[in-house]
Amino acid sequence: MADTIALGSYFDNRWQMGTGSVSLINPVTLATLAEVRGEGLDLGTAVQCARSEGRNSLASMTFAERAALLRDMADALQNDRDHYAELARQNSGNTPGDVMFDIDGGIAALKFYAGMGKKLGNAKRFVESEHQPLDREGHWAARHIMTSVPGIAVHINAFNFPSWGMWEKVAPSLLAGVPAIVKPATAAALVSHAMIRTLTDAGLIPSGVLSLICGSARTLLDELDAGDVVAFTGSADTAAKLRAHPAVQIRGVRFQAEADSLNSAILGSDLDQGSETYGLFLREIQKEMTVKSGQKCTAIRRILVPETLLDDVASDLSVQLTKTTVGDPAAEGVRMGPLQSPEQREAARTGLEQLTAVCETVCGGDTPASLTGENAKPDCFLAPTLLLCRDPDNSNAVHDTEVFGPVATLMPYRDLSHAAALVARGKGSLVSSLFTDDDSVASTLIDQTAGWHGRLLWVDATLGKHHLGHGTVMPQCIHGGPGRAGGGQELGGLRGLTLYLQRTALQGQTDRLAAITAGDAVWPGV
Ligand code: NAP
Repeated sequence: MADTIALGSYFDNRWQMGTGSVSLINPVTLATLAEVRGEGLDLGTAVQCARSEGRNSLASMTFAERAALLRDMADALQNDRDHYAELARQNSGNTPGDVMFDIDGGIAALKFYAGMGKKLGNAKRFVESEHQPLDREGHWAARHIMTSVPGIAVHINAFNFPSWGMWEKVAPSLLAGVPAIVKPATAAALVSHAMIRTLTDAGLIPSGVLSLICGSARTLLDELDAGDVVAFTGSADTAAKLRAHPAVQIRGVRFQAEADSLNSAILGSDLDQGSETYGLFLREIQKEMTVKSGQKCTAIRRILVPETLLDDVASDLSVQLTKTTVGDPAAEGVRMGPLQSPEQREAARTGLEQLTAVCETVCGGDTPASLTGENAKPDCFLAPTLLLCRDPDNSNAVHDTEVFGPVATLMPYRDLSHAAALVARGKGSLVSSLFTDDDSVASTLIDQTAGWHGRLLWVDATLGKHHLGHGTVMPQCIHGGPGRAGGGQELGGLRGLTLYLQRTALQGQTDRLAAITAGDAVWPGV
């Protein structure tokens, strides 16, 4: 316990220590790394400081100045990148590959919005390009403008991305002029805490612009009011609970959720076992199931293949998955680490029980037979697990139960309409990947599945390996999905600012409206 540190929170311009103690562990060794002291914090003061000083700071800055602030933050974080990578290994059992997703991905999101904000120049608000005449003589007209919502943003994040999950929300929020209070998931708060510490040490957080609450923060929404925004990432259950909060239901706080998702990959009916695209498909599934030990909201959970190829795919995937070296990420050659905690492993096992009631286990299903690294304790580990469901039409669990770990279910489809109908059983997902070399197969699947997704990745032989993968969220593209996935929409370039902006139809004398909005940044499209 000698190295255990106490994690406080940062708000009202200073670090503050609450009471209580929740231990953060190393899921490989089960050693205690830190204690979160998050009870009894004055959350009302945190909100007030953001509402007054944070808003004033950002309101005084142009888009370019806010972008410069994001750039300075990104540069400071980049300098300490290896420190966070080490903390992510200790607190979440991240391999170097996992670190690229979370730490590097988070800093990249900041840099992306810094670059985009710079191009917006000295404007402080947006105007849509379309001019709307409102009378026949041309005296009266309207322009739609977009300005910051009048309140603050609360960002509640899931445990699996303590860096990316934080910065992909903070960057658009601050660029839009809305101060943010970040609440990381408690179990993985070490990385978020260290990153904010870097910024406070460097004097890079203007008063109230960015706050961090480590701990449960269960009364934080009580402090919110009309004009504020909540951006939530986590389970569908918590999303439903927060959506029902009086702040949202009665006081009109804007609420956006990124929740569970039974993402899919479809092997096109045009492919055979020896084709190049079939190989790309196997590679992608293996990668998706094992990166972050399957604890990715975008991970492939359902694998749909033509019924004639079911057994071949089961056998080929099983060979690849059982080659994965699992253990302590500090040990040489380890490709997959543990789940976040014994509780997460228990939750994954509970989900597995529901799935194995209707599935065969092709490989995995339990603790790996051997773990690499002499310090690795088995408590948080689960082997890459491939399940096979021969009757997906009559097996609800495979479309309903998200096992947040290295687990996916293989299932057969008869024809493309059947594949699309099975995908739809997920009731809305973040992403699906289509593997096909045939344009008509791709087009049919796009037509029949796009409405259920926030993103589709089409992989064919000409794209080959020239993509970052099914699970990678690019800041240029929107992230979020309909229905069960929460109905939210993050990132997507400037679209990511929409949550933090109010669109207003500004009506007035035609020429004077044109003059007053001449210096505004033009919002692309309407
Ligand atoms: P979770 O249990 O729902 O927790 C998410 C966050 O909500 C945590 O910060 C948690 O805080 C907080 N929280 C829980 N109850 C709360 C309440 N009553 N008031 C305020 N905050 C509350 O989810 P998780 O276990 O961290 O994450 C795993 C889930 O997230 C998976 O289902 C995954 O699919 C989903 N996810 C989705 C996306 C996406 O973009 N769609 C991305 C990542 C993860 P504490 O940690 O302090 O309890």
